[in-house]
Amino acid sequence: MTRRRAPTPSRKRPIDRRRLRAAFAELTAALGVPRDPELARTADRATELWAQHLLAGEGVELASTLGEATPSASAAPVSLFGLGVHLVCPHHLTVAFGHAHVAYVPGGRIVGFGALARLVAAATSRLTLQEEATDAVARTLVDALGARAAIAVIDAVHPCHNVLHARSHRAHAVTWASRGEPAAARRLERDLRRALADAARISVADDRAGPRRGARRR
Ligand SMILES: [Zn+2]
Repeated sequence: MTRRRAPTPSRKRPIDRRRLRAAFAELTAALGVPRDPELARTADRATELWAQHLLAGEGVELASTLGEATPSASAAPVSLFGLGVHLVCPHHLTVAFGHAHVAYVPGGRIVGFGALARLVAAATSRLTLQEEATDAVARTLVDALGARAAIAVIDAVHPCHNVLHARSHRAHAVTWASRGEPAAARRLERDLRRALADAARISVADDRAGPRRGARRR
């Protein structure tokens, strides 16, 4: 993770598994991984992990993750908080983990929460800068779904940054992206910041309260 904002190049070819497998085999040799029977399948396991899971969103057309939208006259904001996400830093090839929050104001069509989760997963499980993934989610909701406004937030821990620069391994990066009508986007951002602050306060209050009284009886 770096602060430098560079466009993530779009992928022209699917992941070449044969070359990836060969690269992992070479990597294990370069790292001096022992020729232990227990580790004989490390390159195979790493190839599967990267191609099928860590980079599962590579090549996925983001608009397609939304599926069939339902016509709706509602202009009430729709929010989904706390989606677990991972992304792969294109500068260091390390995996960042965190959460995403997404909200939009419908512009005549809505999609289910599952579609929002699929969109976020496809935008993040890639070699991508966190800023780019965040913007891609908000952009897709406006451009493909026709939302009046959309906001995406990603809050993630980047091991590459924390090992290199931070004094705490718990340092995390938060990125915001908003798209759509400026006035509607501003209202949505204000509501989302308030909702996230409330959720954080409730979580802290729960931690401080400790075990509930009812739980101590018996
Ligand atoms: Zn990095």
